[in-house]
Amino acid sequence: MNHLILLGAPGAGKGTQARKLQDERGIVQLSTGDMLRAAVKSGSEIGKKAKAIMDAGKLVSDDIMIAMIEERVQQPDCKKGFILDGFPRTAAQAEALDAMLAKLGLALDHVIEMTVDEKILTERIVGRYTCAKCGAGYHDAFQKPKVAGVCDVCGSREFTRRADDNAETVRTRLDAYRKQTQPILPYYRTKGILKSVDGMAEIDDVARQISAILD
Ligand code: ADP
Ligand code: AMP
Repeated sequence: MNHLILLGAPGAGKGTQARKLQDERGIVQLSTGDMLRAAVKSGSEIGKKAKAIMDAGKLVSDDIMIAMIEERVQQPDCKKGFILDGFPRTAAQAEALDAMLAKLGLALDHVIEMTVDEKILTERIVGRYTCAKCGAGYHDAFQKPKVAGVCDVCGSREFTRRADDNAETVRTRLDAYRKQTQPILPYYRTKGILKSVDGMAEIDDVARQISAILD
C-alpha cells in the first residue's frame, strides 16, 4: 500500500505532506522539482537544459522527466514504497509511469488530489522558503519556525527561496497545471484509485485526511 502520488497545483502542499509521510512511514519522497533543482545546481547536462524552462514556469520535456523517474524508482531506498510529488504532470508521464511500474511488478495504490483555491496558491508560493541546510519547508505567514530565523529541525539560520516562486512565474505554472496536469485526473478516477483531500485545511488536518485514506 505504499506507492502513491500526491497530485495538486503548485503550492497545494504536496511537498509539505510528502515530507511528513516520509518521516512517519519510512516511504521515500520523490520530488521531481527537487531532483531538477539538484541537477541545475550540479551543472549537469539535464540541469543546463532544465534551468530556463523552470525559470519560465513551463514544464520540462516528458522524455527527460520519465527517464529521471524510471531511474529513481529502481534505487534501493524505494523498496519500501514511494510518494511521487510533482510527477506525473502530463498524460504521457502518467502512461509511462504505469508502464514502468508494471515492468517492475508494482502498481499505484492511491492517487491523492489536494484541492486548494487558486487565489490562496499564489499567496502560499510567494511566501514559501526552506531551510538551506536540511530542506525543511516554511512560510512567511502560514508556517513560521518556532524561534524566528532558526530552523525547527536542524537549528540552521540559513534559508533559501526558489527563483521561480514569484508572482509572474506562478501564473505560468498554474496555467501549466490547468492545461497539462488537471486533465490526467480522469485517468486515475476511471481506475478507481483517485481520492481527494481538502488542501485548504490546516497542515496537520490535511495530514490526518491523507492518513485516513492510507490506513
Ligand atoms: P507544493 O509542494 O505542492 O508546491 P508546498 O508543500 O511547498 O507545496 O507548500 C507551499 C507553501 O504553503 C509552503 O510554504 C508551506 O509551508 C505552505 N503550506 C503547505 N500546506 C499548507 C496548509 N495546509 N495551510 C497553509 N499553508 C500551507
Ligand atoms: P515543483 O518543485 O514541483 O514546483 O517543480 C518546479 C519546476 O520543475 C516546474 O515548474 C517544472 O518546470 C519542473 N518540473 C518538475 N516536475 C516536473 C514534471 N514532472 N514534468 C515537467 N516539469 C517538471
